[in-house]
Amino acid sequence: MNIHEHQAKAVLKEFGVAVPRGYPAFTVEEAVKAAEQLGGPVFVVKSQIHAGGRGKGRFEGLGPEAKGGVRVVKSADEVKANAAEMLGRVLVTHQTGPAGKQVNRLYIEEGAAIAKEFYLSLLVDRETSRVSVVTSTEGGMDIEDVAHSTPEKIVTFSIDPATGVWPHHGLTLAQALGLKGDLQKQASKLLGQLYQAFMAKDMSMLEINPLIVTAPSDEEVAQLRVLDAKVSFDSNALYRHPEIKELRDESEEDPKEIEASKHDLSYIALDGSIGCMVNGAGLAMATMDIIKLYGAEPANFLDVGGGATKEKVTEAFKIITADPNVKGILVNIFGGIARCDILAEGVIAAVKETGLSVPLVVRLEGTNAQLGKDIINKSGLNVIAANDLSDGAEKIVKAVQGAR
Ligand code: ADP
Ligand code: MG
Repeated sequence: MNIHEHQAKAVLKEFGVAVPRGYPAFTVEEAVKAAEQLGGPVFVVKSQIHAGGRGKGRFEGLGPEAKGGVRVVKSADEVKANAAEMLGRVLVTHQTGPAGKQVNRLYIEEGAAIAKEFYLSLLVDRETSRVSVVTSTEGGMDIEDVAHSTPEKIVTFSIDPATGVWPHHGLTLAQALGLKGDLQKQASKLLGQLYQAFMAKDMSMLEINPLIVTAPSDEEVAQLRVLDAKVSFDSNALYRHPEIKELRDESEEDPKEIEASKHDLSYIALDGSIGCMVNGAGLAMATMDIIKLYGAEPANFLDVGGGATKEKVTEAFKIITADPNVKGILVNIFGGIARCDILAEGVIAAVKETGLSVPLVVRLEGTNAQLGKDIINKSGLNVIAANDLSDGAEKIVKAVQGAR
């Protein structure tokens, strides 16, 4: 599960992390009130959407010369004007896809004087079973681009969960970023706080881009500040964190995925044209692969689970057919605990309810496969039967391409 930047900063603040002051705003009035509370002199009006690249993003309906999704301004009046322009508008960034995302809330934050921008992230590394720390002096840009063009500028090290953060980790981080003296101490402290937050809240990713060194005025010392924060949580651990669950913003999620999660289905929407209904995550992956092999793209990943009931299958089918991109459906069931006859009944019930306007290929194998096939054959539905996985994939791809 993902959360907004302002929520991520609030979570990090609980662990002592230094973040700029700011207030979320859902209306222009709230934005103005936030500006008054902050006092200035510099404000940043930040679009809150679950996607990065906001600063370089473009709003639909505004000209190419209009400012992006993160705007630095100098007065409460400017906060007002910019909030009015941004709220309700669709922001397109390289992470949103061409459709973009509507900005329903803003974060009004105090402006920081930036001397340097760095990159810092923590993530679960399944290969080492540890938390990996990835850092770079090249902040404010996409880490994927840095990895591509100047991989030597990325430093990675891992933290063993059995022992936690040690002083040498802090030193490694400071050295990677070229920080000395007080800033080195600040880097060590920050790493400890971030790691603690990461573990305590069961995060799967915590990305700070940029982490900055402030340009201090004469009487101050330079500070490390978290200027952007992106956090993902391990969904399997959310039951331990009701306060994090509260932060969920369903308007940022695919409605089909929300519907699927209500029925305990593992569903992820994709860009292709062939809807897949499969039992078992591994089989679902294999089904997606083989669709690609035959030259088409899957419209979704869907695992109805081992103990799929008729009701679950019906819901799954409804979700697939509700997707206008779906030009054909491949049902690929390997009956084990789940019986093919039950699943066949579910498919038929769903088709009767939703109608079927696209080709449907069904492959049933395993427990009660023959019974399942009989049920489908007797149903009078226009279903194409398949003998095995590759036969099924070939038939659905042909059916979809033939229809074009
Ligand atoms: P995104 O990564 O989605 O573009 P960021 O929060 O990283 O959004 O903002 C983009 C850029 O805007 C940052 O790299 C930074 O240069 C600037 N910025 C963001 N927040 C502030 C702030 N509080 N003060 C000054 N500059 C900021
Ligand atoms: Mg950023």
